[in-house]
Amino acid sequence: MARYTDAVCKKCRREGSKLFLKGERCNTAKCAIDRRSYAPGQHGKNRVKLSEYGLQLRAKQKTKTYYRVSESQFRKYYEEAFRREGVTSDMLFEQLELRLDNVAYRMGVGASRAEARQLVGYEMLEVNGRKVNIPSYMLKVGDVVRVRDSKKDNKAIVASMEANKLKAVPSWLEMNKDKMEAKVVRKPVREDVDLEVQENLIVELYSKN
Ligand code: SF4
Repeated sequence: MARYTDAVCKKCRREGSKLFLKGERCNTAKCAIDRRSYAPGQHGKNRVKLSEYGLQLRAKQKTKTYYRVSESQFRKYYEEAFRREGVTSDMLFEQLELRLDNVAYRMGVGASRAEARQLVGYEMLEVNGRKVNIPSYMLKVGDVVRVRDSKKDNKAIVASMEANKLKAVPSWLEMNKDKMEAKVVRKPVREDVDLEVQENLIVELYSKN
């Protein structure tokens, strides 16, 4: 178990910032970034000046890891963002934020995005009254996500909602904690996302390939 924990935390150490992959542990003194704020590996303490390509790659990896999406999914979101009208990086973050697993995490369903994804897969949620168990399900403005009535007493859900009851919910979601539901009231924008990354580097990386 300890090895697994370290493996996940290494991703944060590699990117040099907290990506909140481990749930509650991330907000405690056990956080690996707080204890060892250097990259993993034998040469982790040596500062390496990254090339332009290296910086672009790290920005993409950091964002991909933060949302826990695969390379192919991430590229698909980029290509869709590029096709749409507007700033490509804004469109990229809009899609990533509107995934059902991310909205579940923002609601406090699951201590981490990985846990939220599992709970979505276990059919804990409904969208506009219909059961949805697809983590990548893309929400739109007006959609209402709710913990299903039959799952409201589920131990994992209750524990998670209780542990996250003080967690700030982004303003593009209207949360009703008593009903265990959230409504998408507007599209999320880049400023809503608490991830320190230079999004233009991601666009530069993909625009070359
Ligand atoms: Fe590990 Fe969470 Fe800290 Fe990242 S933020 S290093 S996942 S404890």
